[in-house]
Amino acid sequence: MNEAPEASEALLPRPPSPLAEATDGRFAEHGVRLLLKRDDLVHPELAGNKWRKLAPNLRAAVAGGYPRLATFGGAYSNHLRATAAAGRLLGLETVGIVRGDELAGRPLNESLARCAADGMRLHFVSRARYRLKADPAALPGLLEAAGADGAYVVPEGGSNALALHGCAELGRELRGACDVAAVACGTGGTLAGLSAGLGAGQRAVGVPVVGGGFLEAEIRSLQAAAFGGPAGDWSLAEGFAHGGYARVPEALEVFAADFESRHGLPVERIYVAKLLWALLALTRAGAFPRGSTVAAVVTGRP
Ligand SMILES: *Cc1c(COP(=O)(O)O)cnc(C)c1O
Repeated sequence: MNEAPEASEALLPRPPSPLAEATDGRFAEHGVRLLLKRDDLVHPELAGNKWRKLAPNLRAAVAGGYPRLATFGGAYSNHLRATAAAGRLLGLETVGIVRGDELAGRPLNESLARCAADGMRLHFVSRARYRLKADPAALPGLLEAAGADGAYVVPEGGSNALALHGCAELGRELRGACDVAAVACGTGGTLAGLSAGLGAGQRAVGVPVVGGGFLEAEIRSLQAAAFGGPAGDWSLAEGFAHGGYARVPEALEVFAADFESRHGLPVERIYVAKLLWALLALTRAGAFPRGSTVAAVVTGRP
């Protein structure tokens, strides 16, 4: 099962991802230059930040001789999809522990069907059991019930200390290229790593796609685990969740479709559309001084 680490290297992302200017009058009229950091192109098969976060974990799993990867997610989790695809490419077994036992025995949605097609074994658990993933004493029992004993465990959303180091690389790629690097936030792991990698005088802005805030504390604790303390200059721009996770109101849909036609960029709706919307709103509100260059990290594709 386990390939040599060198063999696996070829399957990992090949950074840096492209950085392209998006000429857009709506930003230009406020003196703001918009760049698109195309992390959706970081790997031909596997797009975006999930893959960046997974890469160091995959190296650790292969180097440690683990027979399988286990991870957690909801029924539409991009992280589960990325893990399943990574397992296929690296020849590692994958087990996905999925929130919601009512899903068991029903036809799989498109996202979970892709996981299964990539060889991921799906194990559905109740919401109460799913929460045990955060309890170190209960985790082994949960893994065993899922047939995932001895697995290398990647947390929900993929955000652990190694993942932050993978995302710091994204920040380093942006050194000298922008004043502000902006990214959509789910767990906040990408922002936490990105900001650590930026250079002096650069700052990171995170746009939460879910309302109502434990994110700041979460990011601080992720940074403490990965870097031993606070790292980089970052802040959150709240108020752009558009009603909650995976909600795409009509106005956001119209905005995203328009952005696609202006820039030829496939706009992922759950995260990237909310980021781009927020950047335009912030630009119009004067949040970026004239002459600023803002790089939007395109963390995934539709
Ligand atoms: C998961 C995801 C994010 C959020 O990343 P976090 O590190 O959890 O904040 C952003 N964009 C896309 C496309 C994602 O799939």
